[in-house]
Amino acid sequence: MTRLSALLALGCLAAAAVPARADDAPNPFEYADQFHSDAIGPNRAPPTGHLRVLVVPVSFGKDPGFADFLDFFDPREDAGYTFSNFYRRQSGGLLDMDTVVADVVEFDGCPSTTVPDCAFSVQTIFEAAPIFEEVFRRLREEQGIRLGDFDRSGQDGVPDGWADGVIVLIGEWERAIAPPIYPVLEVVDQGVQVGSIAISDLDRETVLHEFGHNLGAADQYLWSHPYSLMGICDDCSLDVHSRVKLGWADVVDVPTGTELSAFMAPALDGGSVYRLGEPPEYWLVENRQPYLIGDKAVDAATGGLIVVHVDESLSPPVFGQANYPSWHPMTRVVDVPDGSKRRIFVPGDAFLPAAADHGPRSAEDRWLDSAWYDGSRSGVSVADLQPESSGCETPDSIRATLTGPNAVGSTPTRSREPSPVAVGTPCSPEQPIDETPPLASLGACQGSPDAAPWPLLLALAALFVAATRRRARA
Ligand SMILES: [Zn+2]
Repeated sequence: MTRLSALLALGCLAAAAVPARADDAPNPFEYADQFHSDAIGPNRAPPTGHLRVLVVPVSFGKDPGFADFLDFFDPREDAGYTFSNFYRRQSGGLLDMDTVVADVVEFDGCPSTTVPDCAFSVQTIFEAAPIFEEVFRRLREEQGIRLGDFDRSGQDGVPDGWADGVIVLIGEWERAIAPPIYPVLEVVDQGVQVGSIAISDLDRETVLHEFGHNLGAADQYLWSHPYSLMGICDDCSLDVHSRVKLGWADVVDVPTGTELSAFMAPALDGGSVYRLGEPPEYWLVENRQPYLIGDKAVDAATGGLIVVHVDESLSPPVFGQANYPSWHPMTRVVDVPDGSKRRIFVPGDAFLPAAADHGPRSAEDRWLDSAWYDGSRSGVSVADLQPESSGCETPDSIRATLTGPNAVGSTPTRSREPSPVAVGTPCSPEQPIDETPPLASLGACQGSPDAAPWPLLLALAALFVAATRRRARA
């Protein structure tokens, strides 16, 4: 199978799985709208503020091992790699979540006659509403858990009549999905409703992924965006576009006709994200470096700049995938100019304009220069990468020359960001970046760097991951 046919097959599989729905029917795909839906309140967990999240283990006839898993919901900041601490780090401290774990709600078996084996999916999830109505009834009557205690915040930072967040943990043989259940779920307690539910098995990254949907992030399962928790990378941060849209990134604009010598600290250590051009079509650049939460390595396979081409005029069309189709999606990683995905941007790389205008990107022409999607040259470039340290406070910082889109007939305005002055304990003034691709040793996202047909392998990996390891994470 050729690379192209593999990708087309992937797209066809996804398209074939989408059920036909009447225009006025509730749309379960809104769960992954990548910030396009108007139904922000009921669909989403607030991305900032102090939330109280309810975690409900539900057993359908067997205990999948809840006791060994629930430490992941320890709300303390010094508890290491936990649900709350992952999102604290992702949000730069803007999203602070208390988690309250209910006692296990036990059923003898799957109580539904319309959803066999409680195998929740986009096709069946709305028919499963009575199961969840029963879960909330029993939480209230048997455990005294009232929804009014779980509306601490809202999109505007104050209680809004919608539960801040609800996670339902189920066993291994069910499916992970994060639907906006409110159109069919008839649960109101103390004036508070449940908008969406992150349903997950006992896998920490699956819980984080599904809750990412509750926040509004879409899937990124194709090779065109391999560095996101929302896609084929389990141990990754959320992608930069999602973090920008959630308001978790400090964005520095490099507008038309300007050139910036940017000092780029690691984005999750407080570094800025750079936007080249203006919506709807633009590029985002972040410095992505590995880090630890407790003893857990996150973003272990990265270590350099990630450049993402964004076209917000597109909605994720299939399965809510923001990176589909790969030749013209809403978000696409474009940072390695030779088309290889074996590493991200490190010194020596450059992302440059095309030599000449060319046609629009297509399945046959998946160029990786900085042309606009219509094929005309943008003038955008990311070049002159050099390691630069301001001291112990910001190791792995990078200086790069970022050029915004062309201003016709004029010379770019140039500026230079100062490096922060080092503070704290003395350290080496130079912290050189490891120029060896770290992927071979750490390999959390993509495997061996030696094989050639990366897009094909990653597309197949996406299928494999979706079909096996995560079973049915949606
Ligand atoms: Zn998903």
